[in-house]
Amino acid sequence: MAEEFPFEMSPMYEGERIRKDDLYVELAGPKSKGFELVRSADMSEVEDGKVTLIGPDLKDMEEGSTYPFAMIYRIAGEGVEPDIESIVERRNHDFQNYIQGYMHLNQRYDIWVRISKAAVEKGLESLKQIAEATMMMFKNELPFIEKIEATYITDLAEVEKELEEAKKVYEARDARTRDLHDEDVDTFYGCTLCQSFAPTNVCVVTPDRVSLCGAINWFDGRAAAKVDPEGPQFPIEKGEVIDEIGGEYSGVNEAAVRLSGGMYDRIKLHSFFEYPHTSCGCFEVVGFYMPEVDGIGWVDRDFKGTAPNGLPFSTMAGQTGGGRQVVGFLGIGINYFRSPKFLQADGGWKKVVWMPKALKDKVSDSIPESIAVATEEDATDIESLKKFLIEKKHPVVETWTAEEEEEEKKEEAAPAAAPAEGAAPPSGIPTVAPMQMPSMTVSGGSGGGLKIVLSNAKITVDKIIVKKKE
Ligand code: ZN
Repeated sequence: MAEEFPFEMSPMYEGERIRKDDLYVELAGPKSKGFELVRSADMSEVEDGKVTLIGPDLKDMEEGSTYPFAMIYRIAGEGVEPDIESIVERRNHDFQNYIQGYMHLNQRYDIWVRISKAAVEKGLESLKQIAEATMMMFKNELPFIEKIEATYITDLAEVEKELEEAKKVYEARDARTRDLHDEDVDTFYGCTLCQSFAPTNVCVVTPDRVSLCGAINWFDGRAAAKVDPEGPQFPIEKGEVIDEIGGEYSGVNEAAVRLSGGMYDRIKLHSFFEYPHTSCGCFEVVGFYMPEVDGIGWVDRDFKGTAPNGLPFSTMAGQTGGGRQVVGFLGIGINYFRSPKFLQADGGWKKVVWMPKALKDKVSDSIPESIAVATEEDATDIESLKKFLIEKKHPVVETWTAEEEEEEKKEEAAPAAAPAEGAAPPSGIPTVAPMQMPSMTVSGGSGGGLKIVLSNAKITVDKIIVKKKE
C-alpha cells in the first residue's frame, strides 16, 4: 500500500525534473555506469517481493554525489515468457517516474536517475523502498506478473560485472529480428509509451525497424500486445503496400492519423527525407542532414561534443523531439543501423557521412566496407568533413559533381529561403526542413570558401548544389 512509503506515487509526477540544486544523489547516468534489466524465470525461482541490495544504500551515500546503479528484476507468471522481458523493462521508466522526488531517464544501459533532497527529507532513506514501490506498481499495472523480485546494485565492480551480462541479453534480443523482415509479416506494432511527452508521436515497430528508444523490437511488440491487449503496445495491420522501398503502408498511414490526432497521415518507415517517422524524444541517436555535403550525420546521446554542423546531441534532440515529423532530422534506435532496410529510400549508408567514433565502432559490422564514414577524429566541421569525403571518395561526392555540372549554366538564384513551416509540399516532392536550425543558415562563412545555392524556396534534396566560391 502507498501508505507504507514516505512518498507519493502518481502519473502526475511523471514530468517532474530534478535540477542540480534539488539533487540529493545521482545514480548511473553519463558520469557513472548502470543499467536496468528484466529477466523471466520459473515460478519456483522467484521469491515474490524480495529485494537484494548490493553496495551502499541511500542513507550511506554522500549528498551531491553520483553512484553507479543497476536494477535487475526477475519476474514469473503463467503468461510470462522471455519475449515479454523488454516490454516489462521499458515500463520501469514509467513506474519509477510516478514516484515523487525520483527521476528516471532513458533505458537499458543509458539509465540516469536522480533523487531529490525533498524526498530524503520526507523520509526516503533506502533504495529498497524504491524497489518495493516499483514492484508494487509492476504487479498492479501488469497483472500477468505473478511474482517479482529485485536486485539493486550500487557497487561499481558488481555493476560492471553484471553490465557485461546484461549487454549479452540486449544483443541477443536485438539479434532476433535479423532474419525477419517487413515483407514477411502482415502486422506491425504501435507503441504509445512516449505520447505522454510526445503527443503526436507515431511509433511503428516493424521487423526491420526497432523502436526509437531501442528497447522494443517487433517480437517485443507482439508479445506485449498478446499478454496485455489493453496496454500501450498494439497491432497495426500493414494494409496495402504504397511504397515498398520507402516503407509506406496504408495501415500505417491510417494508424498515423489516429495516433497523431490528425497531425500526420503519411509515414515512410525507411525514408529520411520524405514523410519520415516521427521522433519522440527518447531516441538513442539523432540523424541530421548537412546540405553542404548532401549527407547525413548521426549523433548519439553519449557523444558530448558537437557534430560537424556545430550542434551537440541535446540541441538537435530538442529540435527533433516532441513527436514531430521533421524533415532534415530523424531520431532512431541504434539497432536500426543494422537493418537491411536502413534508410533504403535515400540510399542507406551511401548517404551517411559522419558519426561519433564510439557509435561507429558499435555498428561497424553493418557499415559497407566501401563507405568511409568520418568521425570526430576525421572531421569536426563542414570544411574538414568535406575534405575527408573527397579524399575517401565517399559516394556523396559524386552527387556534388553531377549537380555542379548540371547547374553550371543556371544563374545563381535567390539567397537561401526556407519554406514556411506547414506549407504544403508539391505532391511527391519532399521539402527539406522547416529550416530552423542555425547550422543550416547559409552564409558566406568564416573562411569556409563554400557557397550553398538553393535554387528554389521549395527545397528538394536533389537540388542542393555545392560549388566553389569564385
Ligand atoms: Zn520514445
